[in-house]
Amino acid sequence: MKIHEYQGKEILRRYGVSVPPSVVCRSVDEVDQLAPTIMGPPWVVKAQIHAGGRGKGGGVKVVSSLEDVHQAAEEMLGMMLVTHQTSPDGQQVRRLLIEEGAAIHSEMYLGVVIDRVSQRVVIIGSAQGGMDIESVAASTPEHIHRLSVDPVAGVDEAGLALLAEKMGIPSDLQLEAVGLFSSIYQAFWESDASLVEINPLILTDDQRLVALDAKFNFDDSALFRQPDIAALRDVDEENQDEVDASAHGLNYIALDGSIGCLVNGAGLAMATMDIIKFYGGEPANFLDVGGGATTEQVTEAFKLMLRNESLRAILVNIFGGIMRCDVVAEGLVSAAQEVNLDVPLVVRLEGTNVERGREILAESNIEIIPAATMAEAAEKVVAAAS
Ligand code: GDP
Ligand code: MN
Repeated sequence: MKIHEYQGKEILRRYGVSVPPSVVCRSVDEVDQLAPTIMGPPWVVKAQIHAGGRGKGGGVKVVSSLEDVHQAAEEMLGMMLVTHQTSPDGQQVRRLLIEEGAAIHSEMYLGVVIDRVSQRVVIIGSAQGGMDIESVAASTPEHIHRLSVDPVAGVDEAGLALLAEKMGIPSDLQLEAVGLFSSIYQAFWESDASLVEINPLILTDDQRLVALDAKFNFDDSALFRQPDIAALRDVDEENQDEVDASAHGLNYIALDGSIGCLVNGAGLAMATMDIIKFYGGEPANFLDVGGGATTEQVTEAFKLMLRNESLRAILVNIFGGIMRCDVVAEGLVSAAQEVNLDVPLVVRLEGTNVERGREILAESNIEIIPAATMAEAAEKVVAAAS
């Protein structure tokens, strides 16, 4: 789960991390009312969407009068902000953060991420902040510094001091930097975050370290024990289909191809997408209905896929392990009867009670293109979609 910058900064504030004074506004009226409580000039008007790259896309404006704050707010609220991290249509701006402008001496990068290879949390620092860290890593990897954290011993202060030095933090601020990095790590750890990114972390002209941006991602599987974090969810920022899917216990991710996939098991779903691409097609979605999908879930899954205007064909790929093929087949038949299935449907069933499953499909009046193997199914669905 992602949250907004202003929510991330609230978390940081609770951990004693210095962030600029600010107000959050949902309308221009609110901006007119609250912006004068923030010191300026300059003021910074920041679009709150769950995507980065807002600066380049026109979602961050540094202005020098309250009239310009008003003007920027009028322009930004309601706009579809396009950045390299949004869809091509962009994301609608519904909230603004109005901040006291900082006098920037230098912009650095600080990230806390999980490194799957070492199975540890890694703190990443760079003197090259403010810009796209991925391109810094690609073009000048020597500017990326990493510190691995021992999960039992916690952060190593000497290591943090060295990291601060490599990031170009003046030596008289090193102690403060160590405290700051420890606090950010603590915030990451205690909130079950999967990523915290401060880009930029700045050194101000008057020699203070301030988090000017804040990005938090959280582990969805831990939200049950993080009610305060879960309450920060903003479904307006999420794909509506994905929100509906999660409400039905389906694991669905919208993609931009034309072939819908309904599969049980995440690994099989990945393999199904791979083989569709291998045969020259493009998947319209990732969809894992889980190990024990009910008829109702299968029906819901069909409805979700059929909402997509780019859909040209559907591939159902089910391996009946715990789930029996006859139950799946019954689900498919009743789902197909309930929805208006107007695209070709390729079905590959394998596993427990597969003969009975195939009989049920054959006896039904739904038009199904049967396939015995994954390769055959993929070939057939790519042909049907084109
Ligand atoms: P992002 O582009 O979505 O990552 O948004 P950021 O919050 O990182 O802002 C982008 C850039 O705007 C920063 O790297 C800064 O260069 C600039 N910026 C943000 N806040 C301030 C500020 O208070 N003062 C000044 N001078 N520049 C700012
Ligand atoms: Mn940023």
